[in-house]
Amino acid sequence: MLDPRLSVIEDRLKRVKKILAVSSGKGGVGKSLIAATSALILSEKGFKTGLLDLDFTNPSSHIILGAESAYPLEDKGIVPPKISGVEYVSIIFFTGSNPNPLRGPEATDAFIEILALTRWSDLDYLMIDTPPGLGDLILDLLKLIKGLNFIVVSTPSRLSLETVKKLVALLRSVKAPITGIIENMSTEASPSIKKDVEELGERFLGSIPLDPEVEQALGKPDEIIKTRFAESLARVLSSIQS
Ligand code: ADP
Ligand code: MG
Repeated sequence: MLDPRLSVIEDRLKRVKKILAVSSGKGGVGKSLIAATSALILSEKGFKTGLLDLDFTNPSSHIILGAESAYPLEDKGIVPPKISGVEYVSIIFFTGSNPNPLRGPEATDAFIEILALTRWSDLDYLMIDTPPGLGDLILDLLKLIKGLNFIVVSTPSRLSLETVKKLVALLRSVKAPITGIIENMSTEASPSIKKDVEELGERFLGSIPLDPEVEQALGKPDEIIKTRFAESLARVLSSIQS
C-alpha cells in the first residue's frame, strides 16, 4: 500500500522555496556546523529560514544553536520552535539525548514521520543537516524531497576528497542537483582542493578556514555568527544566491 504520509510531505514542503542538504559522505568535516551556521546567516540577512537535523545517530545542531531544551508546539502536526529566528526541527525533540539506534527501515520511517508532521512556514530556505555515509538517508532524501539541492562539504584532505567523489558520483547517477563543493577547515599548510573540484566538473564554492574560535562560540548563535568561520561561510552563501 502506498504510504499516505508521502503526499502529506509534498504538501508540507510546497511553500519552501529552496531546500539545501549539506552532505559529505564523510563525518567530522563540518556538515552540522555549516548547516546550522548557514541557517543563522540566512535568517540574519532577513530570509525566512528553517533547519532540519536528520542525523539521527549523532544529532549536533541543537548543541551548536544552544537549543537543547527547544520543543515544538503540537498543533495538527508540529510547529517548529524558533531559535535565533530559525525554524528548527531535530530528532532530539523525540529522543532527547538518549542513544537512538535505528535500523535502515526504522530510520526511513522516522524520517518520513518528521517530514509529514512538521509544519514549516513559507520559508525562503530550508537547510538540512545530514549524517555521514552514502546509504539509505541520501536515497530517502532524494525520493521524498522534490527539488532538493546538495551542498557538498570536504576538508582539504585527500581522504575526504575521495569520499566526496563517491558522493558526487552517486548524486549524479540519480540526477540530483549539486550546488557545489565547499572546502572546510583549510589552513595555510593545506593545499586547496579547488583544482580537483573543478576537474571533477563541479563548482568550487569557496574555502572556509579552520577557525579555533568556533569551539568557544558553540551554543551561542550570536557569537558563532561573528566568527571568521561564519564570515567566510557568508561569502560562500552570497555566491550561491547570485
Ligand atoms: P560533521 O557534521 O560533518 O560530522 P561537525 O559540524 O560536527 O562535522 O564538525 C566537526 C568538528 O569540527 C566540530 O567540533 C566543529 O565545531 C568543528 N569545525 C567544523 N568546521 C570548523 C572550522 N572551519 N573551524 C574550526 N572548527 C570547525
Ligand atoms: Mg554532523
